[in-house]
Amino acid sequence: IAKNKGKNCYQAYESSMATRIAEEYTVQEDLRDAIQDGELVVYYQPKYSTRDRQLTGAEALVRWEHPDKGMIPPDQFIGIAERSGLINDLESWVLDSVCAQIRRWLDMGLEVPPISVNLSAIRIHNEDLPERTQACLDKHGVAASYLMFEITESLAVREILRAVEALKRFSAMGVRVALDDFGTGHSSLSYLRQLPIQQLKIDRSFIKDLGACDGDHVEIVRSIIGLAHALRLRVVAEGVETEQQMAFLDSLDCDEVQGFLMGRPVPAAAFGEVVAQQSGRAGKATLHMLPGA
Ligand code: C2E
Ligand code: MG
Ligand code: MG
Ligand code: MG
Repeated sequence: IAKNKGKNCYQAYESSMATRIAEEYTVQEDLRDAIQDGELVVYYQPKYSTRDRQLTGAEALVRWEHPDKGMIPPDQFIGIAERSGLINDLESWVLDSVCAQIRRWLDMGLEVPPISVNLSAIRIHNEDLPERTQACLDKHGVAASYLMFEITESLAVREILRAVEALKRFSAMGVRVALDDFGTGHSSLSYLRQLPIQQLKIDRSFIKDLGACDGDHVEIVRSIIGLAHALRLRVVAEGVETEQQMAFLDSLDCDEVQGFLMGRPVPAAAFGEVVAQQSGRAGKATLHMLPGA
């Protein structure tokens, strides 16, 4: 009986595996078409300086507008894209879309802040990524200083160290790099020092409990900010949802904030309006300082 039971379990396991593989394959094929048919869209989430709440940049976040299934969030297809190799086409598309959009905003006369693009761990090792990035910037006539990359800290240390060469080439080009989801990985001081990065983003999970009764998270966030500043990196807190978290981050000297409190990810047109408003404010401030104005 036991033997039979085992066999049944195995068959059930095998068929659920088969279903999963078939499903993954379907989504893969669907995604391949989606990239070609223009079903992907880039949303932009603003980042602000903590102290004076000035716009400092935005993060580009991809979404899939599926004709039948509606809006699909990236967590549901980035993994599949990585496993199938589609990530190269997907991220090339995102980068091109972002550079084209920056060009349009510049042509509208807007003061465009740096836009951060997420890079999959898999792609950092692509030998020609720096060249391809430069080619994309050139194609749209966009200076490297308008672009930033975010690489996730949850990579294996070995992989991050292998990426150092690529990161150095980005630095040389003038494209800045942020270490994303900080605190979730295996960072050690020794390798963090070796990374040619300019920004550190504290993972949302640490921000969530800021202001809750237990003080642990405050101390963790305080030490991450201290560490970042010791390494002369700017610190961004992700996932800021309440004024209380904001007040904590201000008191802890966190440089920038990003989260639903200040702004959700929005389509390009809506983010353009945020930039225009900020430019307007800056413009008025300058006018104010002119003699006689
Ligand atoms: P991430 O890079 O850590 O991006 C931040 C995520 O946190 C975004 O989720 C954003 O919408 C969400 N978020 C921002 N503020 C808040 C907040 O106050 N509360 C909460 N609960 N969430 C907040 P999203 O857009 O669903 O993206 C998820 C992940 O997908 C990203 O995490 C990133 O790792 C990945 N991703 C998105 N676009 C790309 C891409 O073009 N390439 C690659 N490789 N990954 C991407
Ligand atoms: Mg990110
Ligand atoms: Mg992040
Ligand atoms: Mg995160």
